[in-house]
Amino acid sequence: MNSVVIVGASLAGIRCAGSLRRSGFEGSITLVGDEAHRPYDRPPLSKQYLNGDWDVDRLQLVKPDMWDDLDLALHTSNPAVRLDVGTTSVALADGSVVSGDAIVLATGARPRTLARSDALAGVHVLRTLDDASALRSELEGEAKNVVVIGAGFIGAEAAATAHLAGHKVTIIEAGAVPMERGLGPVIGTICGDLHREEGVDLRLSTGVRSLLGDNAIAGVELDDGSVLAADVVVIGIGVVPNTEWLDDSGLTIDNGIVANEFCEAAPNIYVAGDVARWTNPMFDGELMRVEHWENAVEQGNYVGRRIAGTETEAFAPVPWFWSDQYSYKIQLAGRPLGTDDMKIIDGTIEEKRFAAIFGRNGMLTGVFGLNRPKHVMQYRMQMTQGATWDDALAFAEAAAAKKA
Ligand code: FAD
Ligand code: NAP
Repeated sequence: MNSVVIVGASLAGIRCAGSLRRSGFEGSITLVGDEAHRPYDRPPLSKQYLNGDWDVDRLQLVKPDMWDDLDLALHTSNPAVRLDVGTTSVALADGSVVSGDAIVLATGARPRTLARSDALAGVHVLRTLDDASALRSELEGEAKNVVVIGAGFIGAEAAATAHLAGHKVTIIEAGAVPMERGLGPVIGTICGDLHREEGVDLRLSTGVRSLLGDNAIAGVELDDGSVLAADVVVIGIGVVPNTEWLDDSGLTIDNGIVANEFCEAAPNIYVAGDVARWTNPMFDGELMRVEHWENAVEQGNYVGRRIAGTETEAFAPVPWFWSDQYSYKIQLAGRPLGTDDMKIIDGTIEEKRFAAIFGRNGMLTGVFGLNRPKHVMQYRMQMTQGATWDDALAFAEAAAAKKA
């Protein structure tokens, strides 16, 4: 391999470039991005950057003095528009074509929107630095009515930041329980209660009929016809993988770019990050797409090693994420379903410090921690080692006995 083209100049893409160099790859690297900015980190966009604690410099994924070591050609504001799998080349919006012996697709995802959201000032999604800067400037002013649509990650984190900044926050969630599909009814309810206890109005089983206002948002009409006054709206109703430019490529596109256990979508075409739907041997070969930071880092690193020829194993992680809301550190590892068995194995719900494990078909499938990071890492390790539900319960009993 003498040349690699990476499409998507963000977390997975830049980590792949770094991994290539660390693995001894001496060929050319071209990094293609559609944003105007150099690669930056997204988690602070709903937390430390949104609340004004951090400036743009702290978001940079590559320190200014590290660019030389990466030795890559960076294209900004120049989206890839077509992939030719046969010649492993990529056409860019400015009419140029970049070719490589290998191509890495790391184009991430973009927010879903609602009708009229683009037409009304004061309505925001939160994915990019530009999105976050626009929302931040609105939250810097006097107290406002902020309506957050969706009680997923964006909704929960943006609501917490807006509330702590002194705004009156209402969250609208279509489901009966926040994040029930992944966390189940008990943990989902606890996550929702965190908002209520902080003084945020959380409205469940409530759909949005329309956004009201002429040029600027004035209110949100709910399914029951009632209207919530709104100066600012944040929409956090999930994301869509950025794959449209690949529609005629011949790759299999199905809720992401489908790839094998080595993250290869076709010979010498690799995927990484939020856009990747790869076969994870750790979970019986489930086709998995993970929309969290650590996966983008690990998969980018993995693909870099794979292309450099230093990696022979399949990519088989146990996914993990964190979310900071108010004073709480929420973490989840694994792949639980809301219908799995669930057991609290340390702490209590009342003290807001506990860890819970999930199991399905006799296997340990997940661990959730509220201010319990150590437990999440312990049970994540167990999942990596293929622990059964009984193994995990025995481990929990032994740990409790040791503590007593
Ligand atoms: P992205 O970061 O989406 O990057 C893809 C890049 O490719 C983008 O720059 C995109 O514009 C570009 N692109 C798209 N199409 C093209 C094209 N055709 N040509 C060229 N470039 C293209 N995860 C956690 O685990 N914990 C957190 O606390 C957390 N907080 C978050 C907070 C926010 C506000 C957001 C938005 C996400 C957060 N995440 C968090 C998720 C995490 O940031 C993502 O999983 C991660 O950014 C995925 O990285 P990626 O490189 O795969 O995709
Ligand atoms: P998300 O986590 O998928 O949550 C979207 C939420 O909105 C879900 O609860 C969904 O309910 C609900 N919803 C969907 N349609 C709705 C509608 N029309 N009205 C009201 N609610 C609706 O997505 P997100 O919060 O938008 O986050 C975007 C991306 O950023 C995700 O990839 C996420 O992983 C990532 N992110 C991660 C973190 C983190 O890991 N800490 C933080 C911020 C962002 P259903 O589930 O019932 O559809």
